[in-house]
Amino acid sequence: MSQISLFTIIISALIAFFIVKSRGKSKWGVHLKGVRCPKCNEKQPFIRVPKNEREALWGGYTCNNCNTEMDKYGQLLDDKP
Ligand SMILES: [Zn+2]
Repeated sequence: MSQISLFTIIISALIAFFIVKSRGKSKWGVHLKGVRCPKCNEKQPFIRVPKNEREALWGGYTCNNCNTEMDKYGQLLDDKP
């Protein structure tokens, strides 16, 4: 029984390690530096009110200046997948 729980702990640690390692620049990452609009270079406010579901879920901004949508890294978002 104790061997099984040790195995479980090791597996959980490995999974946690891979999640942290693969996080990087993904949807789950946190971007704390200022983001600028990819089109007009307008600085986006750090504290923001989500304007749609995607922003609420994943972060991201809608430029107040030109209405361009971008993700939280300041990458231009295309509505088409
Ligand atoms: Zn803009």
